[in-house]
Amino acid sequence: MAEKKLPMRQCIGCRTVKPKKELIRIVRLPDGSFALDPTGRKNGRGAYICRDPQCLKKAKVTGGLSRAFRENVSPRVYEQLEEELGKLEQQ
Ligand SMILES: [Zn+2]
Repeated sequence: MAEKKLPMRQCIGCRTVKPKKELIRIVRLPDGSFALDPTGRKNGRGAYICRDPQCLKKAKVTGGLSRAFRENVSPRVYEQLEEELGKLEQQ
């Protein structure tokens, strides 16, 4: 049996490289807003983060999204994503 290669991605918060499916995708939508993309199927540029609000907090401090998307991302975006992540975790 052939060895399966897991696609790996780096978390923009803690910068740990993990299998893609253990991370959650953050997508930059064509209108310039950001959203979590739990299915990984939305169109747009993507970045990956752990399912952990702590990683969003780290990314906010280090400017992880700005680095990933090469544009200035407002702290409000992190807060919005943190809220979305909180809702996901409750499901
Ligand atoms: Zn992380």
